[in-house]
Amino acid sequence: LEEKLLQSQKMEAIGQLAGGVAHDFNNILMVIMGYGSMLRNDPSLASENREQVERIMEAADKAAQLTAGLLTFSRKQVIKTQTVDLNEVIRRVEKFLSRIIGEDVQLKSQLPEHPLPVEMDSNQIEQVLVNLATNARDAMPRGGLLTVTTSLQRIDQGFVDANDAGSPGPYAVVSISDTGLGMDEATRRRIFEPFFTTKELGKGTGLGMSIVYGIVTQHGGFINVYSEPGLGTTFKIYLPLSPSAFEAAEALRELEHPR
Ligand code: ADP
Repeated sequence: LEEKLLQSQKMEAIGQLAGGVAHDFNNILMVIMGYGSMLRNDPSLASENREQVERIMEAADKAAQLTAGLLTFSRKQVIKTQTVDLNEVIRRVEKFLSRIIGEDVQLKSQLPEHPLPVEMDSNQIEQVLVNLATNARDAMPRGGLLTVTTSLQRIDQGFVDANDAGSPGPYAVVSISDTGLGMDEATRRRIFEPFFTTKELGKGTGLGMSIVYGIVTQHGGFINVYSEPGLGTTFKIYLPLSPSAFEAAEALRELEHPR
C-alpha cells in the first residue's frame, strides 16, 4: 500500500511539472504559430521563403501535439462530458481499431447486452482505445489476438488489485488484452510516465500511455495492468458508472439479480 501511495505521489509530481512546462511552452508556440501564419498568408512573401515557413509551421504543429499530450496527462485539458454507453463507443471505433492492428492481428470483442452508461468525453475515451490498440499492435509484430470486453463491476471498500484502486462504487470496466511481448516488472511500473518508451528512437514518443492515464483519472477512473513477458498484456480501465442514468440502475439490478 505504501508503494502505491509513493507511486501516485510520483505521478502527481510529474503531472505538475509536465503540466506547468507544457502550459508555458504552449504560449510560446502560439506566438510562433501566429506570426508563422501571418507570414504564410502574406502575398509578398518570396516563393523561395514559402517552403521555409511551411517547415517552421510543421515543426510548431508537432510541438503543439506534444504539449497537448502533456496537458492531457496533467489533466489541464478541459473535458466536456455527457452520459454515453461505453459499449456504444467501442462499437463505434471497432472498425478503426481493426485498421490500426492490421491484418495479422485478430480483433475479438465481447460486449454485454445491457448498456454501461458513463459520464464521459467520448472523444477522449476513443483516444484511450486507439492508444491501447496502437501499443497492442506494436507488441504483436508477428500477429496475435486483441480481445476487448466490457463488464460491470462493484468496487468495495477493501478492493486492492494489481496496482491501483478507486473509491468504492459501481464501475464500467473495459478490458483490453493482447497476446504480445508483454513487459517485465520494471517496465510496467513506468509506462504511464511521459516520454517513457522502450521503442527504438523515432518510433514512440512515450506519450500514449500517459495520455491514457490522464484521461482515465480525469474521468474519476483508474487502470490496472497485468502483464507476463512472452505471453501478453491486459489493461483494465475502470470508469465510474453514471450515477444519474436510468440504464445504470437497470444494469446494476441485472448484476445483483441475474435473470
Ligand atoms: P510509446 O508507445 O510511444 O512507446 P506509450 O506511453 O504508449 O509510448 O508506451 C510506453 C511503453 O509501455 C512502451 O514503449 C512499451 O514498452 C510499454 N507498453 C505499452 N503497452 C504495451 C503492450 N500492450 N505490450 C507491451 N508493452 C507495452
